[in-house]
Amino acid sequence: VQRDPDQPEFLQAVREVFDSLPPVVDRHPEFEEAGVLERLVEPERSVKFRVAWSDDQGHVHVNRGYRVQFNSAIGPYKGGLRFHPTVTESVVKFLGFEQILKNSLTGLPMGGAKGGSDFDPKGRTDAEVMRFCQSFMTELQRHIGQFTDVPAGDINVGAREIGYLFGQYKRLRDEFSGVLTGKDMTFGGSLARTEATGYGLCYYTAEALKTLRGDSFEGKTVAVSGSGNVAIFAIEKAGQLGAKVVTASDSDGYVYDAEGIKLDVVKDIKLNHRGRIREYADRVPGAVYRPDCSGVWTVPCDIALPCATQNEIDAKSARTLVDQGCTVVCEGANMPSTPEAIEIYESAGVLYGPAKAANAGGVAVSGLEMSQNSQRLEWTFDQVDQRLKEIMVGIFNKSYLASQEYDRPGDLMAGANIAGFMKVGQAMVAQGLL
Ligand code: NDP
Repeated sequence: VQRDPDQPEFLQAVREVFDSLPPVVDRHPEFEEAGVLERLVEPERSVKFRVAWSDDQGHVHVNRGYRVQFNSAIGPYKGGLRFHPTVTESVVKFLGFEQILKNSLTGLPMGGAKGGSDFDPKGRTDAEVMRFCQSFMTELQRHIGQFTDVPAGDINVGAREIGYLFGQYKRLRDEFSGVLTGKDMTFGGSLARTEATGYGLCYYTAEALKTLRGDSFEGKTVAVSGSGNVAIFAIEKAGQLGAKVVTASDSDGYVYDAEGIKLDVVKDIKLNHRGRIREYADRVPGAVYRPDCSGVWTVPCDIALPCATQNEIDAKSARTLVDQGCTVVCEGANMPSTPEAIEIYESAGVLYGPAKAANAGGVAVSGLEMSQNSQRLEWTFDQVDQRLKEIMVGIFNKSYLASQEYDRPGDLMAGANIAGFMKVGQAMVAQGLL
């Protein structure tokens, strides 16, 4: 707190993890002796840089770029890039810190990192986005590499942006390597990467429901927030598993469709012409649009899957969800629940799947993309999807087991923190003081 008083998101993420760790440190004095906790909260390297670019009218804009290489104890740095006006050093650090434990939980050899910029691609032409990405990569390329740091997408960084970033890296380094994941299929992408976070979220939730409740998605009403990459494929998989998803949203508002969200309409609006979710209500009779994105949590549901952004469920929204009968909250977005919301879930006995476990499917398939790039091979959709499912079930099992071992049975947040931390902590001790 003294070192980073002006980084509220980062401090929130660290507190959530550290609250779970005292019993681990009690049982494993080697972590304290090696200063593991003090080292864990300090990034190994952090760069902040100017990104200058010109718009289609020739006007110059200056944005700020970030890459926080948090921890490489178990593998090369790995984590997405976010382009959004709300990106600050605090946001990048919270995401990078979470990424350390998330990547550890996947069981794949990936360290933790995150990056991005306060650039807002909304309303920008493809040519402007390309010039921005080229300028961003001109600096970032000094710090990354297939064995050093392998960035991916996040909010507003999808296939288009990854393509421009990859092209610029290749041009500057004269090297075709797997330096980014989330690539298009024509130049080294992995099948099922686009679907991975949303599908993985549902695989994790299904496993938790089965083990802890003897239940499933079948016949459940689900509220989803967001309408981006994670939300779209969470809606798709929840539907395939027998649930009815009744909401979708963006930062302007949400739509409610009592008949169940028509995903082809959402995909057309969002993926084909980067439109706004309000258009859904114009196109689907009976659907309702409300210009209030947090209102999505006033819709009665059995299961809530927040898939938009951090701190989107506060105490008031959590209380409303619980009062209206919601008994499961699993997080597709990173840190979408405030600490007060999480307390409400706990006291109401909500089955709570924390982001670092529930949304790890995206980075897991990014890890599989790295494997395919190294092998110069392309796996089938079913092969990747099967591995994804196994990894998500594995993450649930590890978290549940750790929660039992440390006398917090069924506390999946403590379990994920402990299981993710153990591997990283042991690697840090083994590698000596650095
Ligand atoms: P996208 O950019 O594809 O979509 C983001 C969605 O969230 C959009 O609908 C966007 O609406 C909405 N949103 C963004 N900011 C806000 C806000 N302040 N208030 C309300 N809605 C908002 O991003 P992703 O789907 O990739 O990411 C969503 C979340 O999932 C993020 O927290 C991300 O870190 C996390 N995540 C993503 C992974 C991935 O593989 N993509 C992996 C793991 C986690 P609008 O269009 O109005 O901005």
